[in-house]
Amino acid sequence: MQDNTVKPTEKAFALIDSLGKYAVMITKPEMTKTLELEMDEIREGKRMKKDVVNDSRDMLRVVFKEMTQNREEIVKSLKEAIRVDTILGTCPECGSELFLANSPRGKRFVGCLNYPTCNFSLPLPKSGRVLVTTDTCDKHPFLFKLRILKRGMKRAWDFGCPYCNFLQWGEKNGDTDTKL
Ligand SMILES: [Zn+2]
Ligand SMILES: [Zn+2]
Repeated sequence: MQDNTVKPTEKAFALIDSLGKYAVMITKPEMTKTLELEMDEIREGKRMKKDVVNDSRDMLRVVFKEMTQNREEIVKSLKEAIRVDTILGTCPECGSELFLANSPRGKRFVGCLNYPTCNFSLPLPKSGRVLVTTDTCDKHPFLFKLRILKRGMKRAWDFGCPYCNFLQWGEKNGDTDTKL
């Protein structure tokens, strides 16, 4: 089962979800349709530009009001989605979630949410955007495979399992102090 779908769509889903819940009007096709119709009417000289602008302004006012009223809920669901996108697996040592962590010196790594009680960590490449896939490693089923999207690259690089990468790196560098 090779599923290389990139997970960050969670963010997009959450955004549409929360807008659907808390700002219904923007997600409905009617709004776009009305606006398009009105543009045509201006073009055909059936309506005054001023009226149409006023109409759109009213529509946006409703949307804005909805969003402002539900601000907290929208922020909450987006935060939750962003958290899910940075979850890289489950810690094999303590069972907590593994997440995409940043060291104070700007290095990235797989870190355990239970730190400092648990010290489990794995290195990650220095540059490029980390994309979490829904596919887990055969040898390390507690980890999601990753892809790295480097600047200027059209396709993301299949980085795979951070643990396998770490073990390979250890072999190449004569480091035998690797577990699993
Ligand atoms: Zn842990
Ligand atoms: Zn692995």
